[in-house]
Amino acid sequence: MPRVVVLGGGYAGLASLIELSKKDKNLELHLLDGDADHCKITNLHKTFQHPLEKFTVSYAELAEKFHFTFHQHRLDFSEQDLARWQQQQKLPLPQAELPFDWLVVATGASPIQLHAGPGSFGQNELRLGQGKALLESLLEPGEVEPLQLSLVGGGATGVQVLFELHEQLRRNRLPLKLRLIDQNHRLVPNLPEGAHKYITKKLRRAGIDYLPGTNYLGQTEAQIQLAELATGHEFSLPSQLTLQFPGVSAAPSKLKTNAHGQVMSNGKTLENILSAGDCSTYDSSGLNSLTAQAAVRKGKLVARNIVRLSGGEKPQTYRYQEKGYLVSLGAVDAIGWIGLRCNLAKGFLASVIKDGMETQYDLFLDGVDTYLDFP
Ligand SMILES: Cc1cc2nc3c(=O)[nH]c(=O)nc-3n(C[C@H](O)[C@H](O)[C@H](O)COP(=O)(O)OP(=O)(O)OC[C@H]3O[C@@H](n4cnc5c(N)ncnc54)[C@H](O)[C@@H]3O)c2cc1C
Repeated sequence: MPRVVVLGGGYAGLASLIELSKKDKNLELHLLDGDADHCKITNLHKTFQHPLEKFTVSYAELAEKFHFTFHQHRLDFSEQDLARWQQQQKLPLPQAELPFDWLVVATGASPIQLHAGPGSFGQNELRLGQGKALLESLLEPGEVEPLQLSLVGGGATGVQVLFELHEQLRRNRLPLKLRLIDQNHRLVPNLPEGAHKYITKKLRRAGIDYLPGTNYLGQTEAQIQLAELATGHEFSLPSQLTLQFPGVSAAPSKLKTNAHGQVMSNGKTLENILSAGDCSTYDSSGLNSLTAQAAVRKGKLVARNIVRLSGGEKPQTYRYQEKGYLVSLGAVDAIGWIGLRCNLAKGFLASVIKDGMETQYDLFLDGVDTYLDFP
């Protein structure tokens, strides 16, 4: 029985496993992940209000549902290791080596680390379920009033976190000053210009200070250190906490693949090692962005290509094009585009569609696949 091992059980890794479990019952499937649970990280910003467990599913449960063997193990590697694994066709696990016929590398991306220090908080802390505790600590009466809080990063994740937190604080009537710091002059640059205008207007209305073209230098207990990018002028502002969301980078590094998802290393194709999700860049016209949408499509593609290659068929080329992208701005507002980039969607309707996208993924994990647009 041919054996497929998937390294990394995020959106891409699970999409591969689910697709493989449906397409070929004669495969032996294995998953390796450092965590015990799959996290739907597109919901992490909601964990100020909800417990993290609302957005996690145990791999043990998924393994039973989709017939794979789960190994909780973090396997660190370099590109050289991949070339060696291709030759040996086995992975070094602590107990025993795990031979494979096909390997899917889907290790995602890690948050970019800025200067940490007292009073800093970011995606890793949210992933550890510390969002609710942070909110509760902010709600406790303190010595300094109003509290000042800064968020670094005007990309999709930073903006989603900022408005979610603002909503929770406003609901609790906490006198608190929020500020958004970003190196760029345009918020969520992968969205059309109209989205930037919509978000800046919403920031003004919410009383959130917005400092574009500004570099974050560090945070001490009560101050944030900043610099104007244009002039280099350094300055400090009162801030008790800095939320750091400056983006992510592929982990452990960006893997280049051919148009079918097979990893390329030093100009050679690693025939039996494929990659999907945030850690991969495909040499094709398909969507290569670091998004859950691209991760699911790539994950499904590599699964189909493993089945095709095993059966001696030609693999398919990755051609998935984005059908829309939405960023939530609190519980009842969102901004983005649908269908065509010029088709700006905003407000309550956009927020309902965004929730629909999350539901689509929940259904996928329940075994109901509504991602019809393939490859
Ligand atoms: C707060 C937030 C909101 C977002 N919102 C959206 C959104 O609205 N829409 C959208 O399309 N995208 C969104 N994204 C981006 C989206 O979540 C990612 O693009 C997606 O998770 C990528 O999937 P992946 O499978 O490549 O990686 P991940 O989902 O990150 O999964 C990687 C997995 O690999 C495991 N792993 C990593 N290294 C190893 C190792 N060495 N050994 C074993 N296991 C390992 C990890 O534990 C993890 O389970 C958001 C991201 C964040 C953080």
